[in-house]
Amino acid sequence: MPQIKKLLIANRGEIALRIHRACHEMGIKTVAVHSTADVDAMHVRLADEAICIGPPSATDSYLNIANIISAAEISGADAIHPGYGFLSENARFAEIVEMHDLIFIGPKPEHIRTMGDKVEAKRTAGALGLPLVPGSDGAISDVAEAKKLAAEIGYPVIIKAASGGGGRGMKVCNGEDQLETLMQQAGTEAKAAFGDATVYMEKYLGNPRHIEFQIFGDGNGQAIHLGERDCSLQRRHQKVLEEAPSPVITPEERSRMGGIVAKAMADMGYRGAGTIEFLWEAGEFYFIEMNTRLQVEHPVTEMITGIDLVREQIRVAEGHPLSVTQDEVRFSGHAIECRINAEDPRTFMPSPGKVTQFHAPGGMHVRVDSGLYAGYKVPPYYDSMIAKLIVYGTTRERCIARLRRALEEFVIEGMKTTIPLHRDLIEDPEFQAGSYTIKWLEEWLAKQD
Ligand code: ADP
Repeated sequence: MPQIKKLLIANRGEIALRIHRACHEMGIKTVAVHSTADVDAMHVRLADEAICIGPPSATDSYLNIANIISAAEISGADAIHPGYGFLSENARFAEIVEMHDLIFIGPKPEHIRTMGDKVEAKRTAGALGLPLVPGSDGAISDVAEAKKLAAEIGYPVIIKAASGGGGRGMKVCNGEDQLETLMQQAGTEAKAAFGDATVYMEKYLGNPRHIEFQIFGDGNGQAIHLGERDCSLQRRHQKVLEEAPSPVITPEERSRMGGIVAKAMADMGYRGAGTIEFLWEAGEFYFIEMNTRLQVEHPVTEMITGIDLVREQIRVAEGHPLSVTQDEVRFSGHAIECRINAEDPRTFMPSPGKVTQFHAPGGMHVRVDSGLYAGYKVPPYYDSMIAKLIVYGTTRERCIARLRRALEEFVIEGMKTTIPLHRDLIEDPEFQAGSYTIKWLEEWLAKQD
């Protein structure tokens, strides 16, 4: 069995640091690759070696496959972890990594490819027995056909880009008169953003929750689930706060649905970490997509299961069997993650800048995943998420109490952050009762001014 000795981290920010930490705990050396804008980044400082792979623009650096492979060759790395975003769901990159006799810490390229195309993903999920949102059977381009289908499933419908991601490339359509225009707009925007104009149609669910299952496969027909995360608190289809377990899922429902997704992944021969996303409404699950990578919100699952997901990814990539069986997975307590962005907490205008003061909260069951430090300059070129605060409690109530305390302690000065938003949000009685859906946060934000 190959043992990874040196791993190249093809990412930046908190996730690069997260991967570095798992590696050092496993005795694996790390190679950071970075753009010229990230010379002072924490993961670059901590890594055993660092190689500059290009200018600030992600296209020329973090997405520059040739330079990343060269960095791996020069440093003598034997594996590459792509993190999330950037090249993490690029099947071609995974293939190129493997062609260079390097271990790709992730799924088999063919599974990345299938699940990366949402139309193919839905078809595959349906064939594996997962419940789907009613909608077009595949891509849709003919307007007459689309009108007929929308009339059957009923308005509103949502037009989605087959290659979409990050909450982009979606149009909600309330009636037949708008359908043609919105389909065209969706297609044009998808082509511009993702280089693929393919769109498909789904019923637009009125008031669902976003509930996703963490799964893990060994690539040889064994797979387990690690329960669900509730990611319903979203703004513009982007997650803001996530929790595990979901306040609305019973242990019976968890093991029933978890069993279905784990079996689907076992049947597929899936390798590594993955997330199956569902909308949940009136007690029913509807598959929307699968992410073939580690998710931003993975720490809440780690908190309630005690399993280090990055370590598990590396072990599986080395060819080890899964470190636990389904029966050995124990869910205990409750965890919440707040995504902290360098943004104005009301207008959400990006606010990059120099960190003048930094104090991370601590104490029992408080985890901060962040590359920030006093004096660090947040570059304006990348995602605005600068920290994740993850807190555990034996019950949801205790978790919220600890989260309140941790948010009180958190100091980031020199730029605007969304910390005040989280402080207010967790005081809302509806949040505290766990009764919210994917629409709730935007309505709550509108009420704040
Ligand atoms: P992305 O890959 O861009 O994140 P998803 O398909 O995962 O796109 O959808 C992102 C979010 O958009 C969901 O969490 C949900 O809030 C909303 N959404 C997507 N599909 C539907 C639908 N059929 N009905 C209602 N909301 C939807």
